[in-house]
Amino acid sequence: MKISVDNDVCEAHGHCNIVDRELFPLDEDGYSDVGQGKQVPAGKEGLAEQGVEICPVLALRIDEDDAGIG
Ligand code: SF4
Repeated sequence: MKISVDNDVCEAHGHCNIVDRELFPLDEDGYSDVGQGKQVPAGKEGLAEQGVEICPVLALRIDEDDAGIG
């Protein structure tokens, strides 16, 4: 699972960061610093989904991996 942010949509609400600081880092101005295609560590999929769902402006999304990497 990977997560990405649309920086044109993010309004620096910071809700995602409250769900998990490491998964959803913020830059110094409070905007999401998730970037594009950030790998979600094993076991953090549920938190990733929560963070994506909690964003009030739908700036975050989940990019499903191709199955069977490696
Ligand atoms: S919750 Fe949404 S708007 Fe707020 S910082 Fe995270 S991505 Fe940006």
